[in-house]
Amino acid sequence: RVAQENARPTLRFDTQVLQAEDRRKRVLGWLRDAIEDGPIEPWWQPILCANGVLAGFEALARWRGPDGQAISPAEFIPLAQSSGLIAALTDRILQRSLAALAQWRAEGLVAETAYTSVNFPPSALLDPAFPQYLSAAVASHDLPPSALCVEVTESDAAAPGEPMERITTKLRRLGFRLAIDDFGTGYSSLASLNRLAFETVKIDQSFVRGMMEQPRLHEMIRAIVGMARALGLRLVAEGVETQEQAQALGREGVDRMQGYLYARPMPEPDLRQWLQNRRVG
Ligand code: C2E
Ligand code: MG
Ligand code: MG
Ligand code: MG
Repeated sequence: RVAQENARPTLRFDTQVLQAEDRRKRVLGWLRDAIEDGPIEPWWQPILCANGVLAGFEALARWRGPDGQAISPAEFIPLAQSSGLIAALTDRILQRSLAALAQWRAEGLVAETAYTSVNFPPSALLDPAFPQYLSAAVASHDLPPSALCVEVTESDAAAPGEPMERITTKLRRLGFRLAIDDFGTGYSSLASLNRLAFETVKIDQSFVRGMMEQPRLHEMIRAIVGMARALGLRLVAEGVETQEQAQALGREGVDRMQGYLYARPMPEPDLRQWLQNRRVG
């Protein structure tokens, strides 16, 4: 019968689902301990002005599991989100990032204007206590609100409702920076931009990656830049990997760059070395 013929593929599918479920459970088990004991740490990737001056950093969560293998944020961030552990994880990344920035500032390794970007989940921006929480966090490290850029991905900001509008407006009034991440990949880019109080647009790396080969992508970047200019927004291009991309983006008027061409995300000691080398050179 037909069912007989289907038996094999169905079985293989079940096995894959079971393996994925297994992996999910195992990583989730590790995750609880990892947030408490500390193997999840931020690394930092520099963000540079078009003229080469350091603007700030983006904190990116990094984790090596108990089996010694690196686990990607693409795997553990969604898991943290669905399991209620994301607030604890975010708090850890935030506190470590502010502490590090305060230290680098105090040592004169970075300018007083350098900021750290932290990625936040939508649940944070829907919490009425979030602005107060952030104010307390920067104050406890003797930093001004402008030392922190709140990044939220475009898909998370999609269909923004009243609460998110109110909270983002409040954040801007308090002096925090606010960036829309992965811009251009969602289905309501313009609605989010119109309704939420962003001051920076991060052009998604998928546009940058193909821009030299695909004129249409280049045109879309040009349109995003024109729109951002007209609205008085800052721009950061993500995923800049080649000199050609950097030059083309600079010609279009993109004012900030982030990507492997300049620096990869680095742990604290490497970043410190990177900063010291720049000062000397
Ligand atoms: P994102 O916020 O858009 O971060 C940029 C991603 O691009 C990072 O991947 C970074 O390592 C990568 N990248 C930077 N420059 C280049 C380049 O030149 N070429 C290429 N191919 N990639 C580049 P990563 O660290 O794997 O993070 C992936 C995503 O996971 C992030 O995207 C962010 O959405 C999320 N994420 C990472 N850390 C956190 C965190 O602490 N909290 C939250 N909520 N999300 C996080
Ligand atoms: Mg980001
Ligand atoms: Mg991004
Ligand atoms: Mg992303």
